[in-house]
Amino acid sequence: MKIVLKFPQKVMQDPLLADVVLETGVRINIDRALVDATIGEIVIDVPDERVEEVAEAFRRRGTEVREMDMPVVLDEAECVQCGACVSVCPVEVFTYNKDRSISIDFTRCVLCKTCITMCPHGAIKTAEE
Ligand code: SF4
Ligand code: SF4
Repeated sequence: MKIVLKFPQKVMQDPLLADVVLETGVRINIDRALVDATIGEIVIDVPDERVEEVAEAFRRRGTEVREMDMPVVLDEAECVQCGACVSVCPVEVFTYNKDRSISIDFTRCVLCKTCITMCPHGAIKTAEE
């Protein structure tokens, strides 16, 4: 399962990922990272059976943790099947079907939010909105 980690500035200099890997022994795959002097947001992929253990280890270190069951939401009433999201998604979440409908595999999403920016009808939002 993918989870989103948000690091507050006070722990930005700490090697949190390395510490959690050493503590849990879980191999963590980094899908996306946005880190600078003011913000740290990372999407990681963790084996389903170890998610709670890893999430708790990050929370103990002052990290905000959110599981990505449904990272983005599609409003089908607003979608005009233009296909823009299919083109821009870097991990092929969207598939354009022969009948012009859009199929979605949100388990692949890394929350880059490109589809949200590019959708001309505002049909895609993050699950938090
Ligand atoms: S970009 Fe928006 S309107 Fe176009 S197919 Fe995707 S969700 Fe629908
Ligand atoms: S947020 Fe990024 S990875 Fe997720 S569906 Fe949109 S374009 Fe694809």
